[in-house]
Amino acid sequence: MKYDYLIVGAGLFGATIAHEALKKGKTVLVIDERGHIGGNVYTENVDGINVHVYGAHIFHTSSDKVWDYVNGFATFNGFINSPKADYHGERYDLPFNMNTFVKMWNDVTTPDQAKAKIASQTMGYTPENAKNLEEKAISLVGTDIYEKLIKGYTEKQWDRSCDKLPPFIIERLPLRFTFDNNYFNAKYQGIPVGGYTKMVENMLCGADVQLNISYNDVRGKVDFGKLIYTGTIDGYFGYSLGKLEYRTLRFETARLETNDFQGNAVVNYTDRETPFTRIIEHKHFEFGKQPFTIVTREYPEEYSFGKQPYYPVNDKKNADLYMKYRALADRERDVFFGGRLGSYGYFDMDKTIENALDLAGKIL
Ligand code: UDP
Repeated sequence: MKYDYLIVGAGLFGATIAHEALKKGKTVLVIDERGHIGGNVYTENVDGINVHVYGAHIFHTSSDKVWDYVNGFATFNGFINSPKADYHGERYDLPFNMNTFVKMWNDVTTPDQAKAKIASQTMGYTPENAKNLEEKAISLVGTDIYEKLIKGYTEKQWDRSCDKLPPFIIERLPLRFTFDNNYFNAKYQGIPVGGYTKMVENMLCGADVQLNISYNDVRGKVDFGKLIYTGTIDGYFGYSLGKLEYRTLRFETARLETNDFQGNAVVNYTDRETPFTRIIEHKHFEFGKQPFTIVTREYPEEYSFGKQPYYPVNDKKNADLYMKYRALADRERDVFFGGRLGSYGYFDMDKTIENALDLAGKIL
C-alpha cells in the first residue's frame, strides 16, 4: 500500500503531524528506531511511578492554542517546577528570584537591595551588549550568582566555557525580583496524568506505527507521498557536509527503599566538581505516595554515534554548518524536517508542537 505520509520519529513533532494528517483523512506510517513511541518525552511506568526515561519533561506554554491542543490528549496535573540548586551543600532556590538573593546575600531582603547588589557586580556588562553567555549572565545576576549557580553547571552541561556559548541559553531561565520559585514564566504548566507515553499514544491513534526500524531500513521498501523527518538533519544527508555536534546525557537510575530521597522533583548540582548536573526524583512530578522512590542522575556527555543526541550545540561553527544542511533540505521535494534534531534547534515541547502545527497547516 502507499501511505500519504511516512513520518520518521514518534516524538512530539511526528505525533502532531500524524494526528493532523489523520484528521484530514490521510494514511500515515510512523516509524521509530527506538523500541517505543514518545521520543525523548517517553515515560515508563515502574510500579506506579512514571519514570522520565530521557530526563525531566515539564510541559509549559503560554500559547492557548498549544495548551488546548495537548489537553485534547491528556489531563494535566498542575505540577509547577521549582528546582533547588546545590552548590557544595549550600542550597538555593531557582530560578533567580528573591528567595535566591536573600539566601545568597545576608544584607539583602528587598527587591531594591537585590537590584543594587547585582548592579554592583555586573562588571560593566549589560544585557544588550553581552556577547556570550558569561557576559549575559553577569549582566543579569552579577558575579556571585554566576560563579555559584551558573558557571559550573553550564560548563558541565555543554563542556564549553561560558564565554564560548551564546547568550540566549541563559535567557531560558526567568529572573524575578519577587519571591516566586516557578521555573517557568508560562501561563500553563503541568505533567500529563498517566505519563507522556499515554499522551503520545492518544496522538498517534489511527496511525500505523513500526518500532525498532530506521529510515534506512524502509527506504525504497515503503511507498509514500510525503516524508516528515525528525531525525538528525546531518544524518539524513549522510553527513556529506560534516557532522553537526550534539550534547547527550547519560542517565543513572536507581530505585531506593525510602519514600522520599530529596523532597523535590529536581535538584541541580551547580558546582563544577560534582560530575552530574541534576538528580530527578520522578514520583514528585505526580505527587506520588509510594513507599519507595526512583531517582535519576544526569551526566552530560559529548554525543557520538550510537548515543541519543539530545541538545544541538548552539555555537557559531554548528550554526553555520546547519545553515548549509538547511539549504540542501530546502531543495528536497516533499520532504519536511522538524523537531529538535530535524531543525537543529533547542526547542521546548510546546514550541515543537507549535512548529508541527504550523507545518501541518502549510502542507496538509
Ligand atoms: N543553568 C544554570 N544553572 C542551573 C540551571 C540552568 O546555569 O542551575 C543554565 C545552563 O546554561 C543551562 C541553561 O541554563 O544549559 C538552560 O537550562 P534549562 O534548565 O532550561 O535546561 P534544560 O532543562 O533544557 O536541560
